[in-house]
Parts: sequence; C-alpha cells; structure tokens
Amino acid sequence: MIAPHIESISAAFDRGAVHSLNEQDLLRSGCFSDSRVILVREFSETMNQLITAKLKLNLTAEQKLAVRDTALAYRDALNYTAMVAFDSSKSSNGTKLQKLVYNHLRSEFRLGAQMACNVPRQVAATFKSLATKLKQNNEAIKKGHTKKRFKGLDKAPKYASRTVTLNYQRDYTFKFDQQVSIGTLNGRIVVHYEGWNKHLESIQTCSNIGAAKIVYQRSSKIYYLMVSLEIELLDINPTNITRISGIDVGMRYLAVETDLNNKSAFYSGKAYRHKANQYQKARRSLQRKDTRSAKRRLIALSGRERRFIADVNHQISKKIAKPNSLIGLENLTGIRDRTKSKSGNSASKKQRRANRNKAKWSFAELHGYIDYKANLAGSLATKVLAHYTSQSCPKCGHTSKANRPNKGLMFRCECCGHELHADLIGARNIAMRTLLVRQDWTSTGSLSVSPDVSRNETKADILQSFSELRWSVDTSPHHIGTPIDDG
Ligand SMILES: [Zn+2]
Repeated sequence: MIAPHIESISAAFDRGAVHSLNEQDLLRSGCFSDSRVILVREFSETMNQLITAKLKLNLTAEQKLAVRDTALAYRDALNYTAMVAFDSSKSSNGTKLQKLVYNHLRSEFRLGAQMACNVPRQVAATFKSLATKLKQNNEAIKKGHTKKRFKGLDKAPKYASRTVTLNYQRDYTFKFDQQVSIGTLNGRIVVHYEGWNKHLESIQTCSNIGAAKIVYQRSSKIYYLMVSLEIELLDINPTNITRISGIDVGMRYLAVETDLNNKSAFYSGKAYRHKANQYQKARRSLQRKDTRSAKRRLIALSGRERRFIADVNHQISKKIAKPNSLIGLENLTGIRDRTKSKSGNSASKKQRRANRNKAKWSFAELHGYIDYKANLAGSLATKVLAHYTSQSCPKCGHTSKANRPNKGLMFRCECCGHELHADLIGARNIAMRTLLVRQDWTSTGSLSVSPDVSRNETKADILQSFSELRWSVDTSPHHIGTPIDDG
C-alpha cells in the first residue's frame, strides 16, 4: 500500500514560516522556557519530526560550578565573537569568523575545539537573522508601513543568558540509567537527568540525536539540557483513524472538543482567564514606571505569564490529543483577534478600559501543542476553514448571525429551531468539516489539508460544500450534557 503523502498542518499553512524557525527564534519567543517541551518541526517525505526534549539536570554543587564556568565562558566568547563580527563589516560568514576567532577562543576562553567552532557559527546565524530583519524593516519603511527604524545592527548584539551549544558524541553523550556526560572547561561530568517520560523513551530509541543546548533558568536556578531529537513517526493512513473530533477555541472555554460520537468536553477558561488578566494588569502598571527595577520585574513577570499560559495549553492539548484521531482545528490565520470586543471609535471609554485589561491567550500555541501531541499519539491534526463556524446550523445548514440571538449562550437556528449550547456549535461544525477532509483523504489517497483559498471561487466552493454538511440525527441526542462550567 502506498502511504499517503501527509503534510502537517503547520507545514501546510505556515509553510516557510515554520522552516525558518530556529532555536534562536524559539529562545527569543520564550518557547524554550516552558515547563516541558516545544518542538521545531520540519517535514520531509519520510515524516520525521524534530522535537526538543527538555531535561532537568540534577547537578551537585561542584558540577553546578563547572557548568556555570563553562556557560559564562561560552557567553563571553559569544560576545567577543559578536564584536569581531561587527568590526569586520557585520559579517555573517561563519567560516570566515571561525578563522578570525578560533585561536583566541581556545586560549583566552579555554573553550574546547567543538565549542570554539560552535560559537562563530551561532554568532553568524544571529547576524544573518538581524540582517534579514533590517532588510524587512527597510522595505516596510519604503512602503510607509512603519516609521520606526530597526536598531538591532547599530551595535554588536549582546548575549545575556547563560547558554552553551553542545555537539552530540563530542561535547555530550547519553549514558545508562538516565545519565548524561557533558564536557566542561574542567573536564567531563556525568549527570543524572529528569524529563517527560515520552522524551526519556525517545532518547533511548532515537537513532538521530542532534545538538543540545544548556539553558539556565534564572528564576529557579536550574540548568536544563535542551536536546533535539529526530523522531520517526508512525505511518498514518486513513484506516488507522477511527475517530474524528473538532476543537473550537475561545476565551470563555479555552477549548471545546466534540467528536462524531457526540462526546464533548469543555475546557473552561474561567480560572485561567482571571489569572491571565491579573498578569496583564500588573504588567500595565509596571510598564508605566520607567525605572530599572520595574523593567527587571517586567521581564520576570512576562516570563511567568508565558510559562503559565504554556502550562495550561500543555494540560489541555494532552487531553485533546487522543489516539487514532483526526483532530480538526480552525485555521485562525487571517481572522482578527476573535476575543476582542468593540474597539476603536465605536467603543466607549469604559469598554476601552475593559479591553485594555483583557489578557490575550495564545491559541496558536495551543494548536501547535495539539498538533505535536497528536503526532506522538498516532493521530493527526488538520486545519479547516473557520468561516461561519459559529453561525451555521449543524442540523439544517442555515447560516445567519441571527442564529445566535443577542450573542447569548444559546444557539437557536432561525430556520429549523435547533437549539444547542452556543459554544458547542463551533466544535460540531469543525468536526463535520474535518469529516470532509477525512473522506477526501480516503478517496484520493492524499490528505489535502491546505485547500487553496487564495482564489475566491475555491473558497466559495469549499464553503458551499460545508453548507451541505449536517449533523446526523442518530448522533444527536435530545439532551445535551450540561457544560461542566458556564464560565
Ligand atoms: Zn437549522
């Protein structure tokens, strides 16, 4: 049997964007500082997934000092090399840089041969991404999109965090009994590590272990080892899929999940929303103060807030990524912030104040985690068009804003009178659209998860096929389970 060509949702919808992500971007965006895991994915024909396992290093006091010395030396070496690169016309040529700094890095910073090669490579990558940003900024200024000038290349970039890049089998190797051997300036140390079970397993079975990074979390004073692993995914074909589900996201319920067997789950956002709003409030008040300590506290606060959201997203995605499923998510790109209420001139002063204190939730991150965990569970996530998912009647197909009187909790179809909890409507419509994807997959052998919606007619065709979808009566009981929390 020919394995169907499968593209991941992220690959399909954010093609390019995903591939350009590198560890630097991830570090900057804070993905690495979440509690367990984040992925960088790259898709090839053989359906491999690049993941990053975050391992907590259990260092003794002495080992901690050795790692600290190494990390600080590495950081100083990065900063030194950045100065050199800046002075030689902001070069992003790694080979050239290496020639300029290698000996100095070995003698002055006492770095090993491998590390002395990694440093110029990393600096070159930084300069390359800064140059790209400068170029984009110049274009944006030319087009009149912005007046702000990009200042990232005005002086040499400064590396502030303690980090070391390690090559597998040269700078670090895995040993038995959850131990890893790491090269430091003072010789090798053997350290016990902890991590997420799935990752510990992957380390044992993975045939392609890549480079790792030592990362220091200042708030907890803990060193982590971020290891990149290339994992071969199980071949998924339509016959493995026995369950279709649809996921709707929003602020009242961070996620509503329903499958075609009519099992639903509501992941309430109430408690989280409250906490996220508190973070937002605290952040705003710190932003108003222009002191050094306020800035420092702001950075710490932002980190905590990001980790909090990531942690909740992890918990929810873990439950949603059930095995043998095709999981439908909405394609949110091109849709403006759906949690935003009235804004601009039409909003009252009071409304604007309320908006200001409303936290934003990272639904893109939630989608990413679901996609990632689905893959590990032998399932697949796909994206479907999000248009009218909250306005279409799943029973008769009638689509109208008036189906949701006063934007209330109840959906009531104008046409057939079908009534349902409003938050369940979106998830059901998504589940049905996902069923279409599945049927298409079975009949054509290829999973088209990226319908070409650049042309309006295609989009109209797709929406037309959506409008013919109906939630079957057999699966739709008269009594819908009450949501666990009305938010
Ligand atoms: Zn209806």
